[in-house]
Amino acid sequence: METQSNLQEFRCECGKLLFKGELITGKVEVKCRKCHKLMMVNGADGVITKEHFDTK
Ligand SMILES: [Zn+2]
Repeated sequence: METQSNLQEFRCECGKLLFKGELITGKVEVKCRKCHKLMMVNGADGVITKEHFDTK
């Protein structure tokens, strides 16, 4: 049974939950474990942007 929290959910564009948290300021860089995209979360406005890291 999951505990309820009022933390904001940050999801990758693929739908995978990246993390929950409360970001006031700053940025978090997190790699999606499902599609392996590197997502950048801007805490100031809660916007998630996709970083392009092409390692081909
Ligand atoms: Zn993803």
